[in-house]
Amino acid sequence: MPPVEIGTCDSCGDRRDDLVRLHRVYVTPETWDTPGRAVVVDEVERWCFPCRTHYPHEPVAEG
Ligand SMILES: [Zn+2]
Repeated sequence: MPPVEIGTCDSCGDRRDDLVRLHRVYVTPETWDTPGRAVVVDEVERWCFPCRTHYPHEPVAEG
């Protein structure tokens, strides 16, 4: 389990005590003329549990 932090969620803006550091992932759905793709943002954000459930993200590499 990653360590959780207390603060404001960077996704929904709620004050939470279950924030985890991660990278947001922008997913572009596949269309008839364009393959789908996922772009991982370099910036580290802190998200609460509901946001981690609903939106794509990648964990921050430890160490
Ligand atoms: Zn949130």
